[in-house]
Amino acid sequence: MTIRPILLHPDPRLKRRCEPVREITDALRAAADDMLETMYDAPGVGLAGPQIGLMSRILVMDCVKDPEAAPRPMVLLNPEVTWQSEETNTYEEGCLSIPEQYAEITRPAEVKVRWLGLDGATHEEQFAGLWATCVQHEIDHLNGRLFIDYLSPLKRQLITRRMIKLKREKARA
Ligand code: ZN
Repeated sequence: MTIRPILLHPDPRLKRRCEPVREITDALRAAADDMLETMYDAPGVGLAGPQIGLMSRILVMDCVKDPEAAPRPMVLLNPEVTWQSEETNTYEEGCLSIPEQYAEITRPAEVKVRWLGLDGATHEEQFAGLWATCVQHEIDHLNGRLFIDYLSPLKRQLITRRMIKLKREKARA
Protein backbone atom coordinates (compact mmCIF):
# COMPACT_ATOMS: atom_id res chain seq x y z
CA MET A 1 0.00 0.00 0.00
CA THR A 2 1.17 3.48 -0.85
CA ILE A 3 0.23 6.83 0.56
CA ARG A 4 -0.68 8.96 -2.45
CA PRO A 5 -0.37 12.75 -2.60
CA ILE A 6 -3.75 14.44 -2.08
CA LEU A 7 -4.66 17.09 -4.66
CA LEU A 8 -5.35 20.49 -3.16
CA HIS A 9 -8.07 22.93 -4.22
CA PRO A 10 -8.00 24.71 -6.63
CA ASP A 11 -7.29 21.95 -9.14
CA PRO A 12 -9.31 21.31 -12.32
CA ARG A 13 -9.44 17.56 -11.54
CA LEU A 14 -11.48 18.33 -8.40
CA LYS A 15 -14.11 20.04 -10.55
CA ARG A 16 -14.71 17.23 -13.05
CA ARG A 17 -17.40 14.56 -13.07
CA CYS A 18 -15.83 11.11 -12.72
CA GLU A 19 -16.43 8.13 -15.01
CA PRO A 20 -18.31 5.05 -13.76
CA VAL A 21 -16.22 2.01 -12.84
CA ARG A 22 -16.88 -0.61 -15.55
CA GLU A 23 -14.54 -3.38 -14.43
CA ILE A 24 -13.06 -4.41 -11.07
CA THR A 25 -9.39 -4.85 -11.90
CA ASP A 26 -6.33 -5.53 -9.75
CA ALA A 27 -5.28 -1.93 -10.43
CA LEU A 28 -8.58 -0.70 -8.99
CA ARG A 29 -8.20 -2.94 -5.90
CA ALA A 30 -4.68 -1.57 -5.42
CA ALA A 31 -5.97 2.00 -5.80
CA ALA A 32 -8.67 1.32 -3.17
CA ASP A 33 -6.01 0.03 -0.73
CA ASP A 34 -3.89 3.13 -1.40
CA MET A 35 -6.89 5.40 -0.87
CA LEU A 36 -7.66 3.81 2.52
CA GLU A 37 -4.02 4.05 3.55
CA THR A 38 -3.90 7.70 2.43
CA MET A 39 -7.16 8.49 4.27
CA TYR A 40 -6.06 6.89 7.57
CA ASP A 41 -2.67 8.57 7.34
CA ALA A 42 -4.09 12.08 6.72
CA PRO A 43 -6.07 11.43 9.00
CA GLY A 44 -9.56 11.69 7.51
CA VAL A 45 -12.88 9.83 7.48
CA GLY A 46 -13.40 9.79 3.71
CA LEU A 47 -11.54 10.12 0.41
CA ALA A 48 -12.77 10.16 -3.18
CA GLY A 49 -10.93 9.07 -6.34
CA PRO A 50 -10.37 12.55 -7.83
CA GLN A 51 -8.57 13.63 -4.64
CA ILE A 52 -5.68 11.41 -5.72
CA GLY A 53 -6.21 12.19 -9.41
CA LEU A 54 -8.16 8.96 -10.07
CA MET A 55 -11.11 10.12 -12.19
CA SER A 56 -13.34 7.11 -11.44
CA ARG A 57 -16.45 6.81 -9.31
CA ILE A 58 -14.75 5.31 -6.25
CA LEU A 59 -14.74 6.48 -2.66
CA VAL A 60 -13.49 5.11 0.62
CA MET A 61 -14.64 5.95 4.14
CA ASP A 62 -14.46 4.92 7.76
CA CYS A 63 -16.41 7.06 10.20
CA VAL A 64 -15.78 4.92 13.31
CA LYS A 65 -14.68 7.61 15.75
CA ASP A 66 -14.10 5.48 18.85
CA PRO A 67 -10.39 4.49 18.85
CA GLU A 68 -11.32 1.40 20.92
CA ALA A 69 -13.83 0.20 18.32
CA ALA A 70 -12.96 -1.95 15.32
CA PRO A 71 -12.32 0.07 12.18
CA ARG A 72 -14.82 -0.25 9.32
CA PRO A 73 -13.00 0.51 6.07
CA MET A 74 -15.53 0.80 3.24
CA VAL A 75 -14.95 0.98 -0.51
CA LEU A 76 -17.89 2.18 -2.63
CA LEU A 77 -17.89 1.98 -6.43
CA ASN A 78 -20.49 3.86 -8.51
CA PRO A 79 -22.41 4.98 -5.37
CA GLU A 80 -25.90 6.40 -5.86
CA VAL A 81 -28.19 8.00 -3.29
CA THR A 82 -31.50 6.11 -3.61
CA TRP A 83 -33.36 7.85 -0.79
CA GLN A 84 -32.80 10.88 1.43
CA SER A 85 -34.57 11.99 4.61
CA GLU A 86 -36.46 15.25 4.76
CA GLU A 87 -34.87 15.85 8.11
CA THR A 88 -31.53 17.65 7.77
CA ASN A 89 -28.37 17.78 9.80
CA THR A 90 -25.80 20.56 9.98
CA TYR A 91 -22.23 19.46 10.41
CA GLU A 92 -18.97 21.38 10.42
CA GLU A 93 -17.27 19.91 7.35
CA GLY A 94 -13.70 19.94 6.25
CA CYS A 95 -11.93 18.32 3.34
CA LEU A 96 -8.47 16.79 2.88
CA SER A 97 -8.22 18.79 -0.37
CA ILE A 98 -9.01 22.04 1.49
CA PRO A 99 -6.92 21.67 4.67
CA GLU A 100 -7.67 23.70 7.78
CA GLN A 101 -10.84 25.26 6.35
CA TYR A 102 -14.17 24.34 7.91
CA ALA A 103 -17.77 25.40 7.36
CA GLU A 104 -21.22 24.38 8.55
CA ILE A 105 -23.05 22.53 5.78
CA THR A 106 -26.66 21.36 5.93
CA ARG A 107 -27.54 18.05 4.23
CA PRO A 108 -30.19 15.34 4.56
CA ALA A 109 -29.68 13.68 7.97
CA GLU A 110 -30.04 10.15 6.56
CA VAL A 111 -29.47 8.70 3.12
CA LYS A 112 -29.80 5.29 1.55
CA VAL A 113 -26.93 4.53 -0.83
CA ARG A 114 -26.54 1.77 -3.39
CA TRP A 115 -23.09 0.85 -4.66
CA LEU A 116 -20.97 -1.81 -6.26
CA GLY A 117 -18.51 -3.48 -3.92
CA LEU A 118 -15.03 -4.73 -4.74
CA ASP A 119 -16.65 -8.19 -4.38
CA GLY A 120 -18.67 -7.43 -7.54
CA ALA A 121 -21.96 -7.44 -5.60
CA THR A 122 -24.48 -4.62 -5.27
CA HIS A 123 -24.86 -3.31 -1.74
CA GLU A 124 -27.38 -0.95 -0.21
CA GLU A 125 -27.29 0.61 3.21
CA GLN A 126 -28.89 3.46 5.12
CA PHE A 127 -26.46 5.88 6.70
CA ALA A 128 -27.05 8.35 9.55
CA GLY A 129 -24.94 10.79 11.55
CA LEU A 130 -21.35 11.37 10.44
CA TRP A 131 -21.61 8.44 7.99
CA ALA A 132 -24.46 10.18 6.14
CA THR A 133 -22.60 13.49 5.97
CA CYS A 134 -19.40 11.79 4.85
CA VAL A 135 -20.93 9.65 2.11
CA GLN A 136 -22.76 12.68 0.66
CA HIS A 137 -19.58 14.78 0.78
CA GLU A 138 -17.61 12.05 -1.01
CA ILE A 139 -20.30 11.41 -3.66
CA ASP A 140 -20.22 15.17 -4.33
CA HIS A 141 -16.50 14.82 -5.11
CA LEU A 142 -17.34 12.27 -7.81
CA ASN A 143 -19.54 14.94 -9.40
CA GLY A 144 -16.89 17.66 -9.20
CA ARG A 145 -18.58 19.36 -6.25
CA LEU A 146 -16.77 20.55 -3.13
CA PHE A 147 -18.30 21.48 0.24
CA ILE A 148 -17.34 25.11 -0.36
CA ASP A 149 -19.69 25.10 -3.38
CA TYR A 150 -22.55 25.23 -0.81
CA LEU A 151 -21.22 28.51 0.61
CA SER A 152 -21.83 32.05 -0.60
CA PRO A 153 -19.53 33.17 -3.46
CA LEU A 154 -17.83 35.55 -1.05
CA LYS A 155 -16.96 32.85 1.50
CA ARG A 156 -15.91 30.48 -1.27
CA GLN A 157 -13.57 33.09 -2.78
CA LEU A 158 -12.07 33.80 0.63
CA ILE A 159 -11.26 30.10 1.17
CA THR A 160 -9.97 29.72 -2.39
CA ARG A 161 -7.64 32.70 -1.96
CA ARG A 162 -6.28 31.18 1.27
CA MET A 163 -5.72 27.88 -0.55
CA ILE A 164 -3.89 29.53 -3.45
CA LYS A 165 -1.60 31.18 -0.91
CA LEU A 166 -1.07 27.85 0.92
CA LYS A 167 -0.24 26.06 -2.33
CA ARG A 168 2.27 28.80 -3.23
CA GLU A 169 3.95 28.43 0.18
CA LYS A 170 4.06 24.62 -0.19
CA ALA A 171 5.58 24.93 -3.67
CA ARG A 172 8.32 27.19 -2.31
CA ALA A 173 9.11 24.96 0.69
ZN1 ZN B 1 -13.56 16.30 0.57
